[in-house]
Amino acid sequence: MGKIISIANQKGGVGKTTTAMNLAASLAVLEYKTLVVDADPQANTTSGLGHNPREVTKSIYECMVGKEGIRDCIMPTDVNFLDLLPSHINLVGAEIEMVSLSNREEKMKQVLSEIKDDYDFILIDCAPSLGLITINALTASDSVIIPVQCEYFALEGLGKLLNTITIIQKRLNAALAIEGILLTMYDVRLRLSNQVVEEVHTHFKDMVFETIIPRNVKLSESPSFGLPVIVHDAESKGALAYLNLAKEIGDRIN
Ligand code: ADP
Ligand code: MG
Repeated sequence: MGKIISIANQKGGVGKTTTAMNLAASLAVLEYKTLVVDADPQANTTSGLGHNPREVTKSIYECMVGKEGIRDCIMPTDVNFLDLLPSHINLVGAEIEMVSLSNREEKMKQVLSEIKDDYDFILIDCAPSLGLITINALTASDSVIIPVQCEYFALEGLGKLLNTITIIQKRLNAALAIEGILLTMYDVRLRLSNQVVEEVHTHFKDMVFETIIPRNVKLSESPSFGLPVIVHDAESKGALAYLNLAKEIGDRIN
């Protein structure tokens, strides 16, 4: 049965999308059958994996409001073993449309349950919000990865996120675990980056992944080619870091 992992942090620009698409591609390269779910209306994972969101007509939005079956919405990617459930700007409206539904926090869980057995890993790229779609993602998940940028105010907002996770564990998904805190955009030359690494380790100890994602230009340019970094430049530091992270996570299910 597939392990469902949300990539969440309500702060924007911390590396959620970069992690979702590149961790997913690295798991696929390790021959784990992987689905990446784009749960952000900005659809950056969708475009980053080579699909134009404006041309997508069957997205997670249609699945969640019951207009399409999930199998009709899943798209292939250029990477073997990697599929995509794309997003669309329409997903913005889903939160409002779903307000009156019963079990509105459990729509994504219902949708994903149909295909959960087809994959080893299902990664969900969340929007920078703690709104209904993100709550759906966390309710559907076995665990959550929290990317933290090695920058000023790195820990800002983490309390709120951890609090939301506790509420979800109490009310909606008792089995939700924290897969790990992932340090991103690390720059070895910056004292600040090293301070953040120390601070996060002091606070969160063994909740922090061993792998640290460096700041690497190949990671920021690969989406403009519609490719994960492991295809764009397999030898780059960014590609090697996400491959290490995939091994760290893969080892936990073996
Ligand atoms: P989020 O999804 O949390 O908003 P993104 O993954 O989109 O964050 O990252 C924000 C920006 O930082 C993007 O332009 C992305 O290309 C860039 N970025 C993310 N991680 C790295 C990294 N490790 N090295 C260099 N640039 C990065
Ligand atoms: Mg994003």
